[in-house]
Amino acid sequence: MSQKNLGIIGGGQLGSMLSEAAKKLNIKTTIYSDDINAPAQNFCDEFDFGEYNDKTKILNFANKVDVITFEFENIPYETLNEMNKLKPVLPKPSVNRLIQHRIAEKDFINKLNIRTTRYVSIEKPSDIETLGDFLPGILKTTTMGYDGKGQYPLKKIEDINSLNIDFSKGYVLEKLVKLKKEISVIITRFGNNNYEVYDPIENTHQDQILKYSVIPAEISEKILYQSKDWATQIAEELKYVGTLCVEFFIDRNENLYVNEIAPRVHNSGHLTINAYNVSQFENHIRAVCSMEKIPLKKLYNAKMVNLIGDQIEPYRKNLALNDKEFFFDYLKKEIKEKRKMGHITTLL
Ligand code: ADP
Ligand code: MG
Repeated sequence: MSQKNLGIIGGGQLGSMLSEAAKKLNIKTTIYSDDINAPAQNFCDEFDFGEYNDKTKILNFANKVDVITFEFENIPYETLNEMNKLKPVLPKPSVNRLIQHRIAEKDFINKLNIRTTRYVSIEKPSDIETLGDFLPGILKTTTMGYDGKGQYPLKKIEDINSLNIDFSKGYVLEKLVKLKKEISVIITRFGNNNYEVYDPIENTHQDQILKYSVIPAEISEKILYQSKDWATQIAEELKYVGTLCVEFFIDRNENLYVNEIAPRVHNSGHLTINAYNVSQFENHIRAVCSMEKIPLKKLYNAKMVNLIGDQIEPYRKNLALNDKEFFFDYLKKEIKEKRKMGHITTLL
């Protein structure tokens, strides 16, 4: 049989790590990205540069691969839909369309009787006048947000006037949760009631960007089971194929809330590369390429540290790592403030 060709949309670090995992499974990768400098071209077999609305290029890409997946969720639904007419896109485009929109996503989760933060749609500044009950809160763009981009903390109603918010976009106002902890659960679903779930990962954010991830998470048995159960229910209800991450909040009264769903591999799961027998990336590829599912086994406890902006520099210059430390450089051309440049996983 000829070698399978996996198409990946998006050329960031997640695309790179997916490509590396594919190599191990003897699967060829072709990446499509709208970034001519996409770092994943250092890791994939073939790289296609094009805009996400360039129909000719999109269809050319779809024609040459066997199955298509993506490394980030903010891809136009139309693009995924066009590709899906030619080759299977997994997870399916409708999942992406749902999760791209913060309000549709939260409505879906609540319909499953799973708790989210309290939220309300905001379309113009005056919408907020009667919503003092949702403050302190965070105003978030309904679409295209990541790493805290498009988010505005609001303490009082008047704050909205001084923030210079672009109301040509839609927003959701979320009540601020008094956080005790944040955790994430990563699950790979292969088909009906056929999945592997990683243990919850404890996450620490700085400036709304993930900084540290650790396993095991220091949480109660109840939260451990509830978070895994909720992630499983979500994946089943979406009839999801591939790796998915659910981000959770735990408040000071030990209530669990779903913060958001990432329909893809996730930054908090980078430590699975070194800490588990099968990483989140390998599992994603196994699922979307209809390969065998291997029972998941944790091999080590671990901690991952994101290297943001110029924090990468000392590691690039002076690589003195011991055999429990693993450094990943995403090979991004330019160092930028708040940009994830690499990470270090340490086995504990
Ligand atoms: P992004 O899409 O940028 O990841 P999130 O909604 O996950 O956006 O927000 C990023 C981070 O901001 C969260 O991980 C959390 O630390 C903080 N945050 C967001 N919403 C809330 C909230 N309602 N209550 C408390 N903290 C929040
Ligand atoms: Mg998030």
